[in-house]
Amino acid sequence: MAEAHTVIAIDGPSGAGKGTIARAVATKLGYQYVDTGAMYRAVAWKASLEKVAFDDEAGLSKLTERVIFGFENGRTVIDGDDVTEAIRTPEIDVAAAAVAKLPDVRRALVARQRALGECGGLVMEGRDIGTVVFPNATVKIYLDATADERARRRAADPAHASGKGHDLAFVATALATRDELDRTRAASPLKLAEDADFVDTTGVPVEQVVQRVLTLVHAKLGGSDSE
Ligand code: C5P
Repeated sequence: MAEAHTVIAIDGPSGAGKGTIARAVATKLGYQYVDTGAMYRAVAWKASLEKVAFDDEAGLSKLTERVIFGFENGRTVIDGDDVTEAIRTPEIDVAAAAVAKLPDVRRALVARQRALGECGGLVMEGRDIGTVVFPNATVKIYLDATADERARRRAADPAHASGKGHDLAFVATALATRDELDRTRAASPLKLAEDADFVDTTGVPVEQVVQRVLTLVHAKLGGSDSE
């Protein structure tokens, strides 16, 4: 059922389970998985390396246009540097949200994200996938969970250094601050697309959420949801 131009957009705040769910759905369907948050993070990492200020919109958008991304085997590579682990730190959490506020940086990344969708068969997760990147996506899912649960997940996520060595209250505060920034910025704020399905993942096992998303996908594509 990997139809050409099928795009599954998954949006939501930090810790809602987007990465886990999007990856599992992509694997089940044999689709490509794209984590757009990793692109904003990699741009912030590269800017830091090249000493481009996080509010230098012209410098950052030039950098964004010229870098070469690689996303094979679950790794994030920028200009040949594997930054998979390096981009999951509290410093990059803050820097990524700062560069993501800038319209010209977003324009450059959205163009690249759309290009990745040209062949279809894609699960893309982020904040603006259903609202801006692919407003005509086949299926739009908005994942959410309570703030407490999202903070607990982030603190327990082994891929994320943001939670390590900090208590839950610290992680919760950092998460809330970043989410507020993502929701209130002028450029493509995080919001529920009108035609998105809202899925609350609080206390719901991963497999159940994955099944729910697959059911929505199969309903749209007219297939069975028994996979
Ligand atoms: O999803 P993740 O937490 O890795 O994203 C890092 C940051 O990148 C977010 O806080 C948000 O500011 C930004 N982002 C965005 N639009 C996306 C994906 C991520 O603004 N589509």
